[in-house]
Amino acid sequence: MPPEEFRRYGHQLIDWIADFLSSYDAHRVLPAINPGELRAQLPQAPPQTGEPMHDILADIDRLIMPAMTHWNHPEFFAYFVSSGSGPGILAEMLSATLNPNAMLWKSCPAATELEQVTLDWLRQMLGLPETFWGIMYDSASISIMHALAAAREQLNDLAMREHGMAGRKELPRLRVYASEHVHSSFDKAALILGLGQAGVRKIAVDEQFRLRPEALQHALNEDRAAGWRPMCVTATVGTTSITSIDPVPAIAEICKRENVWLHVDAAYGGSAALVPELRWVLEGCEHADSLVVNPHKWLFVPLDLSVLYTRKPEVLRRAFSLVAEYLRTAQDREVENFMDYGIPLGRRFRALKLWFVLRYFGWEGLAVRLREHVRLAQQLAGWVDAHPEFERMAPTPLSLVCFRAHPAHVQNEEELNRLNESLLEAVNNTREVFLSHTKLNGRFVLRCAIGGVRTEERHVRKAWEIVQKQLARLLALK
Ligand SMILES: *Cc1c(COP(=O)(O)O)cnc(C)c1O
Repeated sequence: MPPEEFRRYGHQLIDWIADFLSSYDAHRVLPAINPGELRAQLPQAPPQTGEPMHDILADIDRLIMPAMTHWNHPEFFAYFVSSGSGPGILAEMLSATLNPNAMLWKSCPAATELEQVTLDWLRQMLGLPETFWGIMYDSASISIMHALAAAREQLNDLAMREHGMAGRKELPRLRVYASEHVHSSFDKAALILGLGQAGVRKIAVDEQFRLRPEALQHALNEDRAAGWRPMCVTATVGTTSITSIDPVPAIAEICKRENVWLHVDAAYGGSAALVPELRWVLEGCEHADSLVVNPHKWLFVPLDLSVLYTRKPEVLRRAFSLVAEYLRTAQDREVENFMDYGIPLGRRFRALKLWFVLRYFGWEGLAVRLREHVRLAQQLAGWVDAHPEFERMAPTPLSLVCFRAHPAHVQNEEELNRLNESLLEAVNNTREVFLSHTKLNGRFVLRCAIGGVRTEERHVRKAWEIVQKQLARLLALK
């Protein structure tokens, strides 16, 4: 692409992006599209010859936009919001422009050193100890897999790296522990590490959906007596369904006494700790062996960027380092080569977008926004509590509200589930807001997750109005 053509379409695309980011009121968060509709409009075979940039960009409006779910939309309240801010978007463009591979210090000193510095900044903001060393991966799922691999490697007497697991009769069966509300990526990590489903033990929660430490202690005692070797306990700060916060200080004490690796999954909830009055969410996490937080969730960095902190980088390195001859450099003794600490060799320049976001907003600017999200969630929780036909289904410690419709004349749980499923469907069919759901003790629950960088009070009000209106409509149909 000649520089002049790049410049022309580059300017055009930046204008398109700026227009788009300032016109969310004119876009619906969900598309009106059925499965297969986009595929049917795209050619079955690749283009034989090049096409003009003009046509490619035109197809963004014509084909892609009608099939978009807009994660950056202020009325996106589903799952946990992952929203990309302006500085993050610009940094992604720059990252693609420079396109280094951050595998070695030598392969890009800027990417390696900026990763070290931004992760140390973030560590300070979250109030984590200086002994925490960080690395960037693509997702929390991958971060957790690496943490569990380190936990396994730490069992020195088993010599995992040398002998593996298969066919070793003398090997004790390994087990990992977490609450019933742990994210599925924890189970996936256990599967891929050869522990199997039997190697995962779920621990009961209290009435606020937090792991019960005495139940954990009981499980560890029982398993040791039965010949299991406990390998890792995962505590969650901000569970995926309801943002419950496991009692990390008590769990850390057990892990220390039992000499078991403690991993903390704070993928969403960890960001809250940068707000001074919310710092308590990471209480006890200074004792963790590893901790994951996702700046691509509640820190306005575009997908993808997950961070794994660990007090034991040397164990992680022992689990993953394999240096092929062609990757050796003269600086190996004095530098960090991030390829030594994980599966991927090729690594994107992700630090750039974290750097842009942290500098553009500043610690205070980020705290103001997160604090506002929490305030909006508390306000919505209050509206739900005050409404005779709705009820809150879980505490709201952060910025997620879990609730359901419960009109006085409907008492049957199955009927309530059907009503709430229809309500969610009706709300999302307006395409004006996007909410998601979970099931708690068999009950269908709506989730309204507030966390988008563009979300304001009026957007939350609108979501609540749509929910009330759709319930009234459903009840009138009966
Ligand atoms: C979102 C989430 C994950 C998975 O994160 P990915 O980056 O999508 O893999 C894991 N744990 C918790 C608690 C989460 O909220």
